[in-house]
Amino acid sequence: MIYFDNNATTPLAKEVKEEMASCFDIFGNPSSLHIEGQRSRQVIDKARKRVADFIGARPEEIVFTGSGTEADNIAVSGFAFSEPEGAFITTAIEHSAILKPVCRLEDEGRTVIKLLPDDNGSINPEHAMGAIRSVDKGLLTIMTANNETGVIQPIKELAAAAKAQGLLVHTDAVQAAGKIPLNVDELGVDMLSISAHKFHGPKGIGALYIRGGVKLSPVHLGGTQEHAMRPGTENIIAIAGIGMACELAGQHMCDSRLRDMFEEMILASVPNSFVNGKDAPRVPNTSNIGFRGLENQAIVINLDLEDIAASTGAACSAAKKEASHVLTAMCMSSAEARSSVRFSFSRYNTEEEIVTAVEKIRTTVERMRKRLAK
Ligand code: PLP
Repeated sequence: MIYFDNNATTPLAKEVKEEMASCFDIFGNPSSLHIEGQRSRQVIDKARKRVADFIGARPEEIVFTGSGTEADNIAVSGFAFSEPEGAFITTAIEHSAILKPVCRLEDEGRTVIKLLPDDNGSINPEHAMGAIRSVDKGLLTIMTANNETGVIQPIKELAAAAKAQGLLVHTDAVQAAGKIPLNVDELGVDMLSISAHKFHGPKGIGALYIRGGVKLSPVHLGGTQEHAMRPGTENIIAIAGIGMACELAGQHMCDSRLRDMFEEMILASVPNSFVNGKDAPRVPNTSNIGFRGLENQAIVINLDLEDIAASTGAACSAAKKEASHVLTAMCMSSAEARSSVRFSFSRYNTEEEIVTAVEKIRTTVERMRKRLAK
């Protein structure tokens, strides 16, 4: 299998697996005062430092969560609980982990502004200024990089404008972590979400950075773990995993060599194909390619039969028949959006895989088009 669906999830790195395995027999409750508890606490402390270093934060600003989705929900709903009058500025192209909690708040009567991207999938900071100036208490939550197109948003500029207006700023960096360097001070954000399984860590563990001094109400109520922001006895094996995944990702940032080679070869060999978001800054591992006249679900199934794993878009909505909300927000026609397939690479992919896959994609697309023309 040639695995080009790394934005859905990634294989566990060997070093992460070893780090997690070294914790299997450490069973104490990290909140216990005795030595067994303290052994678990040490695992958490080490991982927290690694996560903090990865994003330029302080360890006490990291809250471990059960996923990227949970980190996003704690940021949005935590702000909503702490600021009953607060408004939300977000974009129409966020992941459902942001859009759904924000839409629920809108249904409950909150002011919600959803910014639209340009045709390349970028949010223009100048266009965002009107929305930012119209709100005096609120949360700006905009993803660092889009999961479908890989387009990187100008978070630094957007955050500076929002901070000048007194707003809090959150960014969903789930698809940026491990692909581009992240530094919370350079970005100027108050909160940032990551998820380990997107960069060769385990599933079911994420982290939310909350800048020191930012007041957020807890969404879950219980014990005092994770500064009471994510109560519940900690999963130290997964926490050890995200710590090691961050350490490795910091050392091996993706580069765009495979992505560029793939796109060049596809555009040269597959007629009527196009790259979505091509002219915007993008994370180096993501290619979203349209094949005019075809349906993406059929392409993905046909490629699976050729042992190539790709995706119609976000993994959690890949079974949906509707056109992607991200591509349609970029003013693409529904037919073009439904012809688009996401290929996402990792540091474990090779040039040989690109060459083999491009040839298989070329013949698959040709065969599908011929069949449709009959
Ligand atoms: N945010 C973005 C941009 C994502 O792409 C994803 C997952 O695809 C998530 C959040 C959710 O992360 P998790 O799978 O850890 O819940």
